[in-house]
Amino acid sequence: MDFDSTDGGVPNDDGDFAFEPFARDDDAGAEKSLRPKRLTEFVGQRRVVDNLRLAIDAATAREEVLDHILLSGMPGLGKTTLSLLIASEMGAGAPKLASGPTLERGKDVVGLLTDLRQGDILFIDEIHRMSSHAEEYLYSAMEDFRVEFMIDSGADARSIPLPIQPFTLVGATTREGLLTAPLRGRFHIVEKLEPYPSSDLDQIIRRSASLLGCEIDPAASGVLSKRCRGTPRFANRFLRRVRDVAQARTGGWKPGECLEITGAHVDEALARLGVDENGLDRIDRDVLRVLFEHGDQPVGLKTIAVSVGEEDRTIEDVYEPFLIREGLIVKTSRGRRASQRAVELYGRDVS
Ligand code: ADP
Repeated sequence: MDFDSTDGGVPNDDGDFAFEPFARDDDAGAEKSLRPKRLTEFVGQRRVVDNLRLAIDAATAREEVLDHILLSGMPGLGKTTLSLLIASEMGAGAPKLASGPTLERGKDVVGLLTDLRQGDILFIDEIHRMSSHAEEYLYSAMEDFRVEFMIDSGADARSIPLPIQPFTLVGATTREGLLTAPLRGRFHIVEKLEPYPSSDLDQIIRRSASLLGCEIDPAASGVLSKRCRGTPRFANRFLRRVRDVAQARTGGWKPGECLEITGAHVDEALARLGVDENGLDRIDRDVLRVLFEHGDQPVGLKTIAVSVGEEDRTIEDVYEPFLIREGLIVKTSRGRRASQRAVELYGRDVS
């Protein structure tokens, strides 16, 4: 059976699928229906959710806008989802969405800020990737709800203060350490999302399966929850492929009927996706292969990225944290090397 390339998946040369880890689900339109609609439906991350709940209730009671919030954590852990939930809990309407790399010029930011209405939530994804010039326009906006707009240049340069409506900035970042001190210091609520334990992912998978009109066997969701890199985005994407397999293998299934998902369907879908029994995908294994080829010599990030055909950023933000967490690679000041555990599991021969 052929898989299609929805959900941000792109076919690779092997005919299986490598996922774009940074692909936004709402852009693809694919996972929209799986996003929790209320904060109470957001599974796990209890400490973060409790802190946000408290801040939202307190700001609402004071009839003030919510303080600016910085959310950090790996791609797919729920930062965008939380910003949507914060907006809905504050009764603020849909947040205004922007992405750091597209905010280059001062006027990009000024345009966004002067468009805001009282109490709006402005969500800036990958906020650490804004240009430093654009970022400076945020400082007075965050602190005093005012932007200093520069007109003319050279000797004629003047700044005009423009008042803006009180708003809440929700910044999301995969690399909190790359935020400048002045920007980070202007966020009064700073929360870090951690990878999910498999018990939370199991709950997310069962909830998503039911929204997709499926019933998943507990053993099957247990297996899937352990192989989705601690990330709801992967859990939901894998589940969609599992559903395709279940549909193909269930003779006589008709739209609208509940689809039963078994362990065999999960195994087949994961095999097709190239996810092995340790939860590693093709790129994870390629990274390990490069490290094994260098023996005990530490390998630099750029060498790894070029060898596996990925961007440095993707290796550093997505693959490396997972492999380190699994105890398969060791990071030193001189580079990365495969761990003893990786040698024990793969015997320096990764296929
Ligand atoms: P990020 O912005 O951190 O990259 P997203 O908010 O886009 O991640 O989350 C990816 C997908 O995972 C969402 O579409 C949502 O359906 C799902 N998701 C994320 N976190 C949770 C959660 N805690 N509970 C249920 N679903 C979640």
